[in-house]
Amino acid sequence: MIVCIDPGHGGTDPGGCSNGLREKDLTLDISLKLNNLLKNYEVDTILTRDKDIDIGLSQRANIANSANADFFISIHVNAGGGSGFESYRHPAASDKTASIQAIIHRTIANLYESNNFIDRGEKTKNLAVLRETKMPAILVENLFIDSVKDANFLREENNRQAIAQSICNGIVQALELKKQKTENNSLDTVIDAFVKAGIISSSEYWKQNAAQGKQCDGEYVATLLQRIYEKYLKP
Ligand SMILES: [Zn+2]
Repeated sequence: MIVCIDPGHGGTDPGGCSNGLREKDLTLDISLKLNNLLKNYEVDTILTRDKDIDIGLSQRANIANSANADFFISIHVNAGGGSGFESYRHPAASDKTASIQAIIHRTIANLYESNNFIDRGEKTKNLAVLRETKMPAILVENLFIDSVKDANFLREENNRQAIAQSICNGIVQALELKKQKTENNSLDTVIDAFVKAGIISSSEYWKQNAAQGKQCDGEYVATLLQRIYEKYLKP
């Protein structure tokens, strides 16, 4: 599963600029945060840009198409005298795209509504990045840069983190992504390394008992600590 994240605008195209903010900076920041959050799930991600560079609309779609992405999301901030959140799919988009849009729209709208911004709804529009991408694609317009109230929300880093989280939650739900199972694997790796170093002799015991909700024998833990001390810490 591959998700393509498209931070709107960039380089010589700043997008909307108002209240001391530039759309291209906000979309990149939210996109990078979203990309980091998705690393916790069993999904590969690509960004159409990860820095402040010029990139054309067709080029953005081409990046997603040539990577065979399964889903494309374009991140924008609105302008033009309004307030609140809206999302877009292409007018000829598939039912599948519409249902993905509905799920992701809801998780994002929940965040905005709980911060007293209005939900402007799920919409359709003939936008190049939605038309030229071959996979389900949506575009989200996160508040209005030229509204003081909206800009004040977007200005705060923790709010941008919350926006990225709400987008992530929607993508995880819509695409049924599973959490990465790194914790258990890495503990197994650690235990095997301890056996190899001669610090513990029974990997089975530690793999079974050194886990959340389980207990280890105090004598065993004491021996473990003593061996670590002998091997690595003794002056
Ligand atoms: Zn834009």
